[in-house]
Amino acid sequence: MFQNPFFDGHEQVVSLYDAGSGLRAIIAVHSTSLGPAAGGCRLWSYDQSGDALSDALRLSRGMSYKNAIADLPMGGGKAVILGPVPPERREALFEAFGRAIDGLGGLYITAEDVGVSEKDMAVVARHTRFVSGVAVQKGIGGNPSPSTARGVRIGLEAAAKLALARNELEGMRIAVQGLGGVGFNLCGELNARGARLVVADIANARVEEACDLFGAEPASTDDILLADVDVVAPCALGGVITPDVARKMRATVVAGGANNQIASDKAGQILFDRGITYAPDYVINAGGIIMVTAEYLGNTESSEVDQAIERIGDRCARILQRSRSEARPSHIVADEMARAIIARAQNKHRHPEPA
Ligand code: NAD
Repeated sequence: MFQNPFFDGHEQVVSLYDAGSGLRAIIAVHSTSLGPAAGGCRLWSYDQSGDALSDALRLSRGMSYKNAIADLPMGGGKAVILGPVPPERREALFEAFGRAIDGLGGLYITAEDVGVSEKDMAVVARHTRFVSGVAVQKGIGGNPSPSTARGVRIGLEAAAKLALARNELEGMRIAVQGLGGVGFNLCGELNARGARLVVADIANARVEEACDLFGAEPASTDDILLADVDVVAPCALGGVITPDVARKMRATVVAGGANNQIASDKAGQILFDRGITYAPDYVINAGGIIMVTAEYLGNTESSEVDQAIERIGDRCARILQRSRSEARPSHIVADEMARAIIARAQNKHRHPEPA
């Protein structure tokens, strides 16, 4: 684990096994400098268990950066459950997961991510209060995907304004990869503002639904990222912008909801060198964590949550402007800003040295 390229000084990494339900999971706690480690729980069938660890570590660090940049009083963590999970064991497995989260005593606060539903989180909530994304109260909480999609649309608008000098989405051609909770809601946001959509998903039913509902044009999952559009919005899994994809992309802007879109620094550099504006993923996909943090803390009005999600636009614009003026890729600029916020909090909490 310590040799893993994504280890990056994680405070704790916990492996969970429950014989009764068959639960196998990893909880990665990257940083608690700003508050308890908050981040979703992903259920995925990994080819090798080493891939699950890498995914947990990379996503967890991303959550530290996302929460820091979004100005939330939360550190960064993530859970991954190793699939597949047979339907008849699902409830028992999330019960066991809930008990394990409770055992960590608030070190890590969970919520939904890929493969995990609001219903699963309701099962987790039977056993622990260290969970969010469970229920809507006074307009706050529940499934984070609509809030994530809204924030992505706001970030996308800011990036398009800067890169394409377009103040409106009307007529803009946008390719959306992945039509799950985030991608489908994003299509709704974009369609409502007159954008013309090109969509792809490995699930044909989702594509058909998006074509029917939003007048979208279907594309193949193989080349959606290379579509001849103004903006590409990756909303499926991470690591999709490889150096090869970055060299071949035809869009002017990349702005989507998926975590860890850039496969490597090299890929980010190629985008930058080619003049493709990349809205850093965790800067613009923070709407969901902003919403579920408000649900968890229970001390915010829904209008304040709306305003916090709106601020994603200015934040994204500032990072992109700095990237331009410093002639450095936007993902490097964002990472640096996030690390500086976390380091300031660490220094504040450091114990005084004895005289
Ligand atoms: P989801 O599981 O609801 O949807 C993912 C979709 O992507 C599915 O429809 C799936 O069929 C599709 N997909 C998978 N591989 C694909 C491929 N190769 N090509 C095209 N489509 C493919 O997940 P989600 O909650 O919508 O999350 C999507 C991404 O956004 C993830 O990277 C997640 O970490 C990130 N994210 C989600 C949230 C949230 O609020 N749910 C918040 C921040 C970031």
